[in-house]
Amino acid sequence: MARETTIRQDDFSAEDPDDETAQSFPGSAIPDGVGVDPPEFDDELRPACLEDVVGQTDVVERIRILLEAARKRGEPLGHLLLDGPPGLGKTTLAMVIPRELGTDFQITAGPSLSAPKDLLPYLTNASAGSVLFIDEIHRMPPAVEEFIYPAMEDFRVDITLGDGLNARTINMKLQQFTVIGATTRSGMLTAPLRDRFVSREHLSFYTLEELTTIVRRNAARLRTETTEEAARQIALRSRGTPRKANNWLRWTRDYADARVNGKITLEVANQALQMKGVDHRGLEELDRQYIETIITVFSGGPAGVQAIAHTMNIPSDTLEDEIEPYLLREGLIQRTPRGRVITAAAWGHVGRTPPQDSPPDPPDSSNDDDQGKLF
Ligand code: ADP
Repeated sequence: MARETTIRQDDFSAEDPDDETAQSFPGSAIPDGVGVDPPEFDDELRPACLEDVVGQTDVVERIRILLEAARKRGEPLGHLLLDGPPGLGKTTLAMVIPRELGTDFQITAGPSLSAPKDLLPYLTNASAGSVLFIDEIHRMPPAVEEFIYPAMEDFRVDITLGDGLNARTINMKLQQFTVIGATTRSGMLTAPLRDRFVSREHLSFYTLEELTTIVRRNAARLRTETTEEAARQIALRSRGTPRKANNWLRWTRDYADARVNGKITLEVANQALQMKGVDHRGLEELDRQYIETIITVFSGGPAGVQAIAHTMNIPSDTLEDEIEPYLLREGLIQRTPRGRVITAAAWGHVGRTPPQDSPPDPPDSSNDDDQGKLF
């Protein structure tokens, strides 16, 4: 049952409720693009429709079915939760859905919703069938989370105006809209919030073939000549992540323009990526530093993530969201109940010999659900 959640009149006094936060882009209709502030600079490479989305075939297929059913019934899409490491296409899919439906789209992020009043304009602006995308939804404070429950369940919000004897509650009816939540940490979502999502989809790392297709396609969009081997090499070093592939493509393009004749050959790609410190497995400086830290400071582990983060002087969130998922998948680290442990493959990767009792490399199937893919 939906809880009654209130926000107070005072909540509105400090700021203009129409004043949007820097990270949010409400009320923008994607089809004509008017008023859409790009959430990030690589928007020009973002697929514009489901047809353009490379990989994630099972997820895309299920989304197609949801869209078809919603269209046939003339109902809004059920709330959808997308989870997976950064850069795998959560925002992309969320943006493609309203385009396919021809409805409005609003975008915000958990950390920019510090109080219910920050969320209210998005809810009242939501038109029938439109999509409200909330990135990093696991970082929404509890008060905002409580406020969104009745909005998601019954399409209403309850606002208390005034205090004490003068207090009165206004029940505001909302249009039937869809919340698409994105999270890199589905485990951090509270059970009540998770349960309000009708569908949940997990995005996994991309195969070499899929990433090569993305690099090839985007090189054409950027009007850059790239050989097949170079596209494959860029894909190989992109940690199974389209955002990385796009970043490395842009960097190699800059390198090729500055140092050679603008054409990205295998040699040019290798030189450019080496200059950025990206090794043949796609590991970067921070990844190698992480492995070295566990080896030198913690004798190969087990080591707690907080301890590693303190030693490296970086937030543990960065380790858990951006460094560890790929190293786990590559079989370079293991997560045990007592902490992170370096595998023999990781010792070898940084050119060291593991001690005799170092844990063996895990079997391929032990890491995650991405068996049979390249990375
Ligand atoms: P996330 O929201 O999961 O962090 P994004 O959706 O912002 O990731 O994806 C980052 C970039 O990677 C996008 O701008 C897009 O160019 C590219 N990208 C992501 N997924 C795909 C895909 N399936 N096909 C092609 N390009 C993709």
